[in-house]
Amino acid sequence: MIPCFSSLSEADHAHVEKAYKQARVLCQLMAHLTTTTIGSLFRFSEDLHESIDKAIEFQRANGVDIVSDGEQRADMVAYFAESFGGLAVENGTPIVTGKVELKNSPEKFSKVQDLKYIKSKHPDVRIKLAITGPTTLGMTCGSRKIKSHYKNIMDFALYDDIATALRPIAKTLVDGGAYVQIDEPFLSQGYKDMAQRVRLIDQIVADLPSEKVSVHVCGFIGGFGVASMLSELDNISVISFGFAGGIEKRNIEHVSRKLFEDTGKKLGAGCISVTPLAENQVDTPEAVAAKLKDIASKVGRENIAYAHPDCGMRATNKSLVPIILRNMRAGVDLFG
Ligand SMILES: [Zn+2]
Repeated sequence: MIPCFSSLSEADHAHVEKAYKQARVLCQLMAHLTTTTIGSLFRFSEDLHESIDKAIEFQRANGVDIVSDGEQRADMVAYFAESFGGLAVENGTPIVTGKVELKNSPEKFSKVQDLKYIKSKHPDVRIKLAITGPTTLGMTCGSRKIKSHYKNIMDFALYDDIATALRPIAKTLVDGGAYVQIDEPFLSQGYKDMAQRVRLIDQIVADLPSEKVSVHVCGFIGGFGVASMLSELDNISVISFGFAGGIEKRNIEHVSRKLFEDTGKKLGAGCISVTPLAENQVDTPEAVAAKLKDIASKVGRENIAYAHPDCGMRATNKSLVPIILRNMRAGVDLFG
């Protein structure tokens, strides 16, 4: 007979509660890791909406739990350079033309429009959209040309203005039901005002629920202490790095259980390379599972938020992308 919960003594109540908590921890341990993608994929079709539909269906068919929009319109810099006052694309090159600000309401921003479309067409989808961070966006545009307003590429006002312009976009995306990922590949390079640059990420997502926000840094992260700086941020919950590619392999030396547990962060674990040139170079499911085991032994399985390819796949050999996603899914299932 199952006793009615309210008729339990306090001691029994505590006992039931404890058993329930243990069962939940066990369930979490037994559940397979969630999978996601970092963002960009090859363009699927000439028609934008058809292209977005195909990008979503492609990811779901290949075992991705939290899908991306596939960045079907543009590359990670052009998305913003085309829509922000003060940034422009001139002869195919993004540049700085004046004070950076959001020109229109965030509702008009292309990624927000695409999210609306995706939510109406695929209402049950879990989606993560990427925003290019201030350092990567500012450095990419400012290194080509700064026409006015900022002294030079090291003028911190440029990055501060970009963070301010990104803030309403991040909020509108989260309000629209998306997870938001701030992409800051350039932060692996190291700058003299690194800590200040990392803190800009917190500013972008200041009022948002941190469980909706992640940050992704590509390449080798061991040079300038970026992992520990990111772990100190208040308003993000997941920090994502690659561990599988030639450059990314050594990242395992720069993460630890302490890094995540001291600050309550989780790891986005890049577990399959995005740079194979032929099918026999794609990491096998066994290699993916072994990689995840290595990562888990370093940070603790419970501190992994999800598994993903090392990086976006716009530049990846198109015919290998489905194999990468399928092998990642199979590797995650093997890892258990
Ligand atoms: Zn990346």
